[in-house]
Amino acid sequence: MNKKPESTGLHSAGTGTRVVWGGEQVKHPYNATQTPIVASAAYGYDDIDQWYDVALGKAPGFIYSRMSNPTVEVLEAKLCALENAESAVAFSSGMAAISSVLYSFLQHGQRVVSTKDSYGGTNKIFEEFLPRMGVAVTLCETFDHQQIEREIAKGCDVLYLETPTNPTLKIVDIQRLVAAAKQVGALVVADNTFATPLNQNPLALGVDVVIHSATKFLSGHGDVLGGLVCGSETLMAQVRHYREINGAALDPFSAYLIIRGIKTLALRVRQQQHSARALAEFLGSEPLVESVNYPGLPNHPNHAVACAQMRGFGAIVSFVLVGGMDTVKLLLPRLRYAHCAGNLGAVETIYGPARTTSHVENTLEERLALGISEGLVRVSVGIEDTDDLLADLKQAFAWVRRSLQPDAAVQTSLAEPCVEAAN
Ligand SMILES: *Cc1c(COP(=O)(O)O)cnc(C)c1O
Repeated sequence: MNKKPESTGLHSAGTGTRVVWGGEQVKHPYNATQTPIVASAAYGYDDIDQWYDVALGKAPGFIYSRMSNPTVEVLEAKLCALENAESAVAFSSGMAAISSVLYSFLQHGQRVVSTKDSYGGTNKIFEEFLPRMGVAVTLCETFDHQQIEREIAKGCDVLYLETPTNPTLKIVDIQRLVAAAKQVGALVVADNTFATPLNQNPLALGVDVVIHSATKFLSGHGDVLGGLVCGSETLMAQVRHYREINGAALDPFSAYLIIRGIKTLALRVRQQQHSARALAEFLGSEPLVESVNYPGLPNHPNHAVACAQMRGFGAIVSFVLVGGMDTVKLLLPRLRYAHCAGNLGAVETIYGPARTTSHVENTLEERLALGISEGLVRVSVGIEDTDDLLADLKQAFAWVRRSLQPDAAVQTSLAEPCVEAAN
């Protein structure tokens, strides 16, 4: 079922077409136009020889849904169409995908090189679980490409990249680091969650394995968990084998929701990144904001690399508030069109401080060591009208300014909880 777009007639189609038709140019039972949710743990055979052939992979078919499932396979084929991959494997969450990739390709005595900025859960695997397995981990300064190259040259089995990073929106130069990794024969893995396949295709830049948290932009509605991995058939066979045994398979109901979400990925992300730029520009002019992180801003330290390897700059912006957590606590509850939550990539705008979202697993000391200050807020820009999102942010800042005035104690006490303010 996992097929490159060339074999499905999608090779000349743009992303907006691929998200709709990728993996779905197949006939379904009853002539259904939508992918059926096949809710069956096992698949039955009267012919024992046929059963055996399917079990051995000599004939097409399904045996048990921890191994493969028809609904999940459509999703896997869709990702292949989006990332131009030979094969894909779906998992029960992004972290299941990330941990399974690392455990599939690393063993005792080997070494992984990555950056200090990565998703909080990924960072925990590097700091806590891989060392326990006897895998050496070196995390480099994300902006210091020379240090990363030096560490790769010392010997490296897996180079693990995430770009743009969460929540600091740093950009690493994929092609440059792939070149260094190939010199020592290292496998290169990239978390492409923030960019989405609309903006960046790491396989085309030489990366071997691409990972997505499908919980985020791919599903797009904040109502499902899932993870996806793609790459060559040979590499994915290893990852699929690991999934069969560790059991972190995606269920068909979730697969269906992710398939449905992906169909609007291009529409959503185009609108979201249009607003993200507008918000980033406004935040850059706001005196209560110390700094803004958005790769689309010309003053972003890696703007040139972002322009070279991305088609768009994504829908996530982060900024540091003057006054740290005290200001965060004033600003966020005043926003009308925003969830204050730990998710991202949904149709609603979502604000969250790194302390309670991406890096909730880390201690204060760990966060500070990772360069994540207490006033850092991440915005996942939704599909609302750009003007409404801008006006909302402006009124919230105006309120914060008023309440920071010396005689404003009464007003400050009027701060409402976030949920009520959002209604
Ligand atoms: C959310 C996220 C993950 C983890 O995905 P889950 O689906 O929550 O397990 C991994 N990487 C990035 C960049 C993320 O944003």
